[in-house]
Amino acid sequence: MTGFVCLFCGQASTPAVVSRQLRDDRTGRHAVVRCRACGHVQLFPLPSLEEEEAFYADDQQARLVFASENFVPVLLEKKKLDLGRRIEWLRQRLPHGGRVIEVASGYGAFVDGFSRAGYEAHGIERSPFRLSVARQGMNGVFHEGALDDRFLMEHAHRFDVVFAFHRVLHARDAHAFVRALLALCAPGGIVHIEEPNLGDSLMSEIPEYANHRWQVSHYHYFAPASFEQLLRSAGAGRVAVEGLQRYGLRHLLQWSDHHRPDLSGDAAPPSTPTLARIEEFYRRDREQALTCDSMIGLVEPA
Ligand SMILES: [Zn+2]
Repeated sequence: MTGFVCLFCGQASTPAVVSRQLRDDRTGRHAVVRCRACGHVQLFPLPSLEEEEAFYADDQQARLVFASENFVPVLLEKKKLDLGRRIEWLRQRLPHGGRVIEVASGYGAFVDGFSRAGYEAHGIERSPFRLSVARQGMNGVFHEGALDDRFLMEHAHRFDVVFAFHRVLHARDAHAFVRALLALCAPGGIVHIEEPNLGDSLMSEIPEYANHRWQVSHYHYFAPASFEQLLRSAGAGRVAVEGLQRYGLRHLLQWSDHHRPDLSGDAAPPSTPTLARIEEFYRRDREQALTCDSMIGLVEPA
């Protein structure tokens, strides 16, 4: 653990090891650790920039196999639940339309959905392969590249909503990433960030579930308090952190009974009204206690 400097508070120390088991660590070199100064949980050591690039290149190959001939419909089907919830949120926030952007928009499924819902929807993505899929099959305006100074200069204060879904955890500098999102935000606009929740109660209840969550590409693990601290540090105006339970009862039962993920997905709606009521209670209960699997951070410019 020599050379550890916390990604969150910048202090050098000997961190506490949270887990040496990561689901995709082929090198056995990485661990999930907790900073003794501020309590932040992060990966250590981080992959080098070259390793990071190779990792994402690998991912592209895997996706290419999965793609086969019916790539876009399969992709849209997998994103349907998240997309429906996000469009509903957008309609409440901007009932009369507006300009939105998703940062790290991947294959473009959400930009496509926002565009079909009547918004001027943009995406920015650094993977040329993902971008080419988006440009061929999806509605919306797709920009190639990273959130660098040039993009931020060109598009400063242009968007009514700036979305980032499960992206902050991948950023080497999470503070800079959130500041960049805010820089894109128009006066009166809002940044909408969705992140996994380290405070998810299943993490402590089911060890295999926790081990499944630790991954080499996840550099940060935010809990509600540290997530809120991150958002406030961006020098913003109003900040709110809300609970979000993405996965339902089938997911809970699968993990508690079989200690492994259900790869068939969690998309089927509850089969009876009774199950639907219990499902609703389960989600709301976890969201209110912030022991749910995800969080939504809302940030408005000062
Ligand atoms: Zn720290």
